[in-house]
Amino acid sequence: MLNGTPKEISERKALRINPAKTCQPIGAMYAALGVHRCMPHSHGSQGCCSYHRTLLSRHFKEPAMATTSSFTEGASVFGGGSNLKTAAKNIFEIYDPDIIAVHTTCLSETIGDDIRTYISQMEIPEGKFVVHTNTPSYVGSHITGFSNMICGFINYLSKSTGVKNGKAALIPGFVNPGDMREIKRIASLLGVDYTMLPDTSGVLDAPMTGKFDMYPKGGTKIADIIGLGDCDYSVGLGEFASAAGVALLDKKCKVKGNIMGLPIGIEATDRFVMELTKQTKGEVPYELEEERGQLVDIMIDSHPYFHNKKVAIFGDPDTVIGLAEFAASIGMIPRFCITGTPGEMFNQRMSDVFERHNIDGIAKPAADLFELHQMLKNEKVDLLMGGTHGKYIARAEDLPFVRIGFPITDRYIHSYLPIVGYRGAIRILEMILNALMDRQDRDAADQDLELVM
Ligand code: SF4
Repeated sequence: MLNGTPKEISERKALRINPAKTCQPIGAMYAALGVHRCMPHSHGSQGCCSYHRTLLSRHFKEPAMATTSSFTEGASVFGGGSNLKTAAKNIFEIYDPDIIAVHTTCLSETIGDDIRTYISQMEIPEGKFVVHTNTPSYVGSHITGFSNMICGFINYLSKSTGVKNGKAALIPGFVNPGDMREIKRIASLLGVDYTMLPDTSGVLDAPMTGKFDMYPKGGTKIADIIGLGDCDYSVGLGEFASAAGVALLDKKCKVKGNIMGLPIGIEATDRFVMELTKQTKGEVPYELEEERGQLVDIMIDSHPYFHNKKVAIFGDPDTVIGLAEFAASIGMIPRFCITGTPGEMFNQRMSDVFERHNIDGIAKPAADLFELHQMLKNEKVDLLMGGTHGKYIARAEDLPFVRIGFPITDRYIHSYLPIVGYRGAIRILEMILNALMDRQDRDAADQDLELVM
């Protein structure tokens, strides 16, 4: 833990209570849905697949298509090879995807299924693909699974022909389709020709057309994933979700990359814009300058509401790091910052944020919401930010609450609107301001009532 916890909280190591993360395959399934005409395949029991699809559907309010190897006792004893081969044959025949992206589950990992060998023994139709990644859920989190699936696509598909294609490989991090659209918009405004992997825009925010489409228009095309190996350079956004993909592209295809934080808030967006500008050697267009100027204007106007307000932030590590930096840059104190995803890098990045902004903050990876609740009982904050599960803490401690990150299962529209870029920062400011000002209004109304009585 960074900066130490209050003394009365003892370290709990063997048990998680209300974890601030979910299981690896969910991230792998999400990444696979960001590939055009791809069927994510869960190699394990039906229950795992149902849970993963349900959580994604509840967050995005869209059907999350996926298939399963439907393990029963037999597969647990004899291995899941025949289940997977039969599944792939049926999936190509019935659902006709261009590619099947297999991820494992706890059970198939525990029995030690050799997926690469199973795939090599399949009869895959001409022009179709099967890729895989290992996603044991007792390691890491959904962010690890997301990162692993990206590596799975690069591993199987990306190739270097020796002739560069002049493009940038963008790995967007574990963000919503609305964020992916915004990252693409910024890249386009800066004149960057890119391939983004994965790209869930147009898939998990697809329009209603009146007819069901198993494979909506969006998603990274297979040809473009192959072409990632010929990109001039890569940019990975969010170290936890994207660093492995950037490193693999360099190792396999010699595409040099830069790993950055998610472009959440003004400083991180500036860094992202400057990185792309450095690569294109172009100018920042007025449209982006205008958005940045609007953001600065709003930050100045509303500063009194933020100044010295303590905030607790929980969620995915890349998102929490970005939000904490932004909160610090608008004068708030990100006092407690936790993620359920393990990794010392979280402490290092949070330490950078705290030092740069002179913040006395506490950060902890591999933490859970029970622990965060204990922290907040010991020391009150002015605002709580994170996914839906935080609402119980907010209610119990009577805290203003901003729903942000993953999962948000009890609200609509959030996945369409970005939190990245300058526009995303304006949206975050609006959400924080509304929460703080609603509380101020309520307190004022309570005071009025007291005076009347
Ligand atoms: S068994 Fe493993 S993969 Fe399946 S839902 Fe549970 S944690 Fe996730």
